[in-house]
Amino acid sequence: MKEYRSNAIEEFSGIWVFCEQRNGKLMSTDFELISEGRKIADQRGCELTGLLLGSDVEKIAKELGGYGADRVLVCEDPALKIYTNEAYTNVICDMVQERKPEVLLFGASNIGRDLAPRCAARLHTGLTADCTHLDIDMNTYVDFLDKNSNVDVTKETFNMEDVNLKMTRPAFGGHLMATIICPRFRPCMSTVRPGVMKKNEFDQALADRCTIEVVRPQIDAAQLHEKVLEVVKEAKELVDLIGADVVVSIGNGAARDIERAKQLAQELADALGGGVVGSSRALVDAGLMSADRQVGQTGKTVHPRIYVALGISGAIQHKAGMQNSELIIAVNKNGSEPIFEVADYGLVGDLFKVVPEMIEAIKAVK
Ligand code: FAD
Repeated sequence: MKEYRSNAIEEFSGIWVFCEQRNGKLMSTDFELISEGRKIADQRGCELTGLLLGSDVEKIAKELGGYGADRVLVCEDPALKIYTNEAYTNVICDMVQERKPEVLLFGASNIGRDLAPRCAARLHTGLTADCTHLDIDMNTYVDFLDKNSNVDVTKETFNMEDVNLKMTRPAFGGHLMATIICPRFRPCMSTVRPGVMKKNEFDQALADRCTIEVVRPQIDAAQLHEKVLEVVKEAKELVDLIGADVVVSIGNGAARDIERAKQLAQELADALGGGVVGSSRALVDAGLMSADRQVGQTGKTVHPRIYVALGISGAIQHKAGMQNSELIIAVNKNGSEPIFEVADYGLVGDLFKVVPEMIEAIKAVK
């Protein structure tokens, strides 16, 4: 192998996405990240590669092509069947050192958060965690700044030739957005939160064109220090907020009669079409709602077709998790709350009175 130097940035090319599988099934984050990777690869004019590790996973690789991967590099070995940090780090770092991608993306899942920092440290490069926006092309990035920040782009001077990955993420408790670059080392690495990037429509023709390359890494199982003895699944059924079409969230305004509020929220979600109930952090911190229902910067990022906020003030950390929903309806008894800044429809009133009327009205229309 040629000498590997992470600062020889001109030697690196191509966009890679680490694709996570569990029990031989791809995760929905994989499709979101491949779709985002496609955007970046198009901006850079290069190939997009999905990196899939596992045992007997070649058969699921083509699906990644349907979301935009040009190639899927499948690393097959029985030792990769169940995730362990050590074996996955070894294989990923070997592949990166051999092929030198310019960008390497991970989902910010439990596995991604565990794996990406170790790979970054071993590869001697930088990692930006929990990104919510990515760009390489400067024109697209300046356009993003113009539309999403208070930077006056006409007064700033930008290096329009800059080809670093611009990795944007919330900083200082969500009070500002920071764009971070890794100018001296490659690959540029980032983790991206599930649910943030929109996935492309699956395209069978693209899947058919995708190249699958199977690699059998040299893994000496005897040399590994980690061994999974048993996988114990939590029996609790977790709510699928990220994949939901309709999310009705309740906040502190619902606290005075939480059981009634939960029931109303679920009825409204059902009336709107099979929705699920979410929550602001205030209710989770108060122990009134479970953590898997929390929407926001430290909860889940959702972009459903309809998002309803009941008794939620609209703190910046809550908005970070829902403001990209297609249609936002807010019910709050105080008409000057920030939630109304992002709402398409706002109803000023007591949620315990307004929501039953909404449910009746929807049922009548149906
Ligand atoms: P409040 O701010 O107390 O608002 C309650 C609202 O209910 C008010 O607007 C009030 O007018 C209205 N109301 C009261 N009674 C009624 C009624 N009967 N009918 C209708 N309206 C009524 N928050 C999140 O949600 N998600 C996160 O992921 C998150 N992450 C955070 C991370 C950090 C680092 C920090 C510092 C904070 C985070 N927060 C998060 C907390 C966030 O700042 C707010 O404190 C929280 O979102 C407030 O929740 P709320 O809107 O339900 O409560």
